Amino acid sequence: MADKSAYIASQLGQIVTAVLKKMATEKSKVSSSSISNYLSESNEFRNLVHTVMTGGDKSDVLKYVTPLRGFVSDQGLKTVEDMVFDPKRTHDETMDALLRTVSDHLLSLEKRQHKFSAFIDDVFSKFVNLQADLTSSLGHNIEFVEKDLAMDKKLLNEAQDMHRILKSEDSIEYLKSKMLDSFSSFVNTFDQKTTTKRDHLGTIATEYSNVNNELEQYKNQVNQLQSDLNRYKNESIQDHMTGLYNRKYMDMKLTEEIERFKRMGTPFSIVMADIDKFKSINDTYGHQVGDQVLKHMSQLIKENIRRTDFAFRYGGEEFMILLVNADARNATHVSEMIRKKLEATNFSLKDCSFNVTASFGIAQFKPDDTAESAIKLADERLYTAKQSGRNRIVSN
Ligand code: GH3
Ligand code: MG
Ligand code: MG
Repeated sequence: MADKSAYIASQLGQIVTAVLKKMATEKSKVSSSSISNYLSESNEFRNLVHTVMTGGDKSDVLKYVTPLRGFVSDQGLKTVEDMVFDPKRTHDETMDALLRTVSDHLLSLEKRQHKFSAFIDDVFSKFVNLQADLTSSLGHNIEFVEKDLAMDKKLLNEAQDMHRILKSEDSIEYLKSKMLDSFSSFVNTFDQKTTTKRDHLGTIATEYSNVNNELEQYKNQVNQLQSDLNRYKNESIQDHMTGLYNRKYMDMKLTEEIERFKRMGTPFSIVMADIDKFKSINDTYGHQVGDQVLKHMSQLIKENIRRTDFAFRYGGEEFMILLVNADARNATHVSEMIRKKLEATNFSLKDCSFNVTASFGIAQFKPDDTAESAIKLADERLYTAKQSGRNRIVSN
């Protein structure tokens, strides 16, 4: 009990300090009503109230949520987050939901792995069959050629016989009957040879079509696998809701771009964008409307960057844009287009409408920068944009 009071006291201390600081920067008069206004707007305060009301601290669950972003499904994490702030949900229930989300993810990975290993097994057995078919086809060919050669030899013998008979000096009658025998044997052998050849042609055609069918099936399976792989690849680098790339992919692309910068000195810039007062949009119109705003902003970003640039969902309502071959001036121009178009968008609901703005911080990558320092700089500039009134861009 004493521990809990100490925890609440320390949390409250931090929250009140933060609120007073915010009031000072915003030059707001300190009064009990203004403090309570600020407190009711503070997420941390709401969390604390829920913590106290539910008799359990669920902040440890939240600690696990952040690092899982971009790896497991957004939807699952959102459910968990909602449960954290839902006083009716217990700590254990919430933790259970988080574990379930993670295990669902692992299960789907395992399913994919299983699918691939089944495919490899299948391909292997197909190759074994194919090899057997080809070996048997070769066997048939050898058998045919051997038979054909034997018949050729027989035909030659028969022709030599006829030659010998013709050369002998026997009577015409005797010669004629001998010749007829020899000749009919020659015709038989020739007939056999033609039949065997025709049969062989039939066998070869069947064998060829079997092998061809197997290859065709194999080709279809490989095509399917390739499209599955592409889909899995996209799923693993994309943010499910907005269709932008996720943070994991951002790390990869940023590293690549830094490498290119070091090798060739091609300039590039980072833009951090954050929707203004987004929490109040969620609070006023609901989460689903908030999601629509996020999708719209993502669409605006996609439409206003080049095909060679990259847009990422950096966090909840934060975006990062990687503009290749662009200095700070180019990045400011692109950001200004997005800012203006967002500002001009009228989000209309059934009985009301509202407008949204966003703030931007830009950092052009410099030779001494690292990925972290450049992001930090863009973030600091974004913070400056927020502090100086929002709906603006701060660059160098
Ligand atoms: P500021 O102008 O200073 O950026 O204020 P803000 O209200 O936008 O900033 P804050 O960081 O306090 O609020 C961000 C909110 O975004 C809090 C969180 O609930 C909400 N959020 C995060 N992810 C999502 C999401 O996927 N969908 C929706 N609808 N809301 C989200
Ligand atoms: Mg915001
Ligand atoms: Mg934010």
